[in-house]
Amino acid sequence: MTRCWCGNTELLSFSKEYATCPDCETLVALEGISPEQLSVRDDEVDYYGKEYWLGHMRQDFGYPDIHSRARTDLTERNLHWLKALLKYLPPPAKVLELGCSHGSFVSLLQNSGYDASGVEMSPWVVEFGRKTFNAPIFVGPVENLDIAPGSLDAIALMDVMEHLPDPVATMAHCLNLLKPDGLLLVQTPQFRKCMDFAQLVETNGVFLEQLKADEHLYLFSEASATRLFRQIGAEYIQFEPAIFAHYDMFFAVSRVPFRHYSKEQSETALASAPNGRLTLALLDLRERELASESDRIARGEQIQTLTLMVQESEADRAARGEQIETLTRMVRESENARAGFGAQVLTLTQSLASTEAERNAKGEEVSSLLSDLRALFGHRAFRLLAKIARWREAKKLENRINQQ
Ligand SMILES: [Zn+2]
Repeated sequence: MTRCWCGNTELLSFSKEYATCPDCETLVALEGISPEQLSVRDDEVDYYGKEYWLGHMRQDFGYPDIHSRARTDLTERNLHWLKALLKYLPPPAKVLELGCSHGSFVSLLQNSGYDASGVEMSPWVVEFGRKTFNAPIFVGPVENLDIAPGSLDAIALMDVMEHLPDPVATMAHCLNLLKPDGLLLVQTPQFRKCMDFAQLVETNGVFLEQLKADEHLYLFSEASATRLFRQIGAEYIQFEPAIFAHYDMFFAVSRVPFRHYSKEQSETALASAPNGRLTLALLDLRERELASESDRIARGEQIQTLTLMVQESEADRAARGEQIETLTRMVRESENARAGFGAQVLTLTQSLASTEAERNAKGEEVSSLLSDLRALFGHRAFRLLAKIARWREAKKLENRINQQ
């Protein structure tokens, strides 16, 4: 039976590999890996061993390999995280990064004046980080390390929380390692309550990439992450813009209210460390890069809007053309109909004229016959014929009387 980190076992189906917890809004992997599987005893065969970094990330997810990442992450996500940390905790301070991978963020923190170290599960990747950045990185899990409770100012967990088989226990352990006013800086995928698996598949949603059930055991929403930390006594949580905002969330969390430092205060702190000026220069460069990127995006949007307007106007023109064509056709049809009526009227007029002519001709024939008769028999003959007719009528009357 799958149990959510919050204890609930009444989960709702989400996909073949995940269920949602209606109590706390977490997406829960149905078959995750155990805490034992999280540890790397043998780098050649264990899940988070050497192959995870060299093959799996590249072949299965299409990510750049660890050598490229060690270079590119520095100027991208590492600077984004550092900027957020500077707001809450400028150097000097003692910071640990859990799941530090190649160690570039640990190195950047060190160069910015922090006393920084990292933890990874694979001895191979730990060695890689040590060699690449000369950074103090240790083989985890963190529970096995000899770190004094209440000794750290901050712990960074970037893309770690979702991998933990028991996030409550690990986060509680991390809080215990912090000074009372220490903070956790967390980046993790953001599940949203409104997400629907069929819809994600249909729209090829970016969050689909986060659904790797054998690795991402718990995918939290803002509400469920807040609930988890509140449950272990860290009730102050501040969400920051995530660098990959379309699928991640990023937040600082603490047991006490945050202290906030201005940009000037952070810059002063950086400038006082030997390599801090290099970090400052990197931050300046990144800021310029982001400004030019957002300018490019704005221009792109402008071009898109204009293209849309041109398309709309063209569609409008085409629609008007069609309207004109329809109207022209209607006028032509009406003209044809009118011509048809005209022809019909002409035929009727002609036939009427010919009927009248015929009637006139017959009338003339009758009068000509009558005048012929007159000429033949004269007026007396007509009178005699009239007498005979009257006599015939009288005879008919007499016969009728006699019959009665
Ligand atoms: Zn839950």
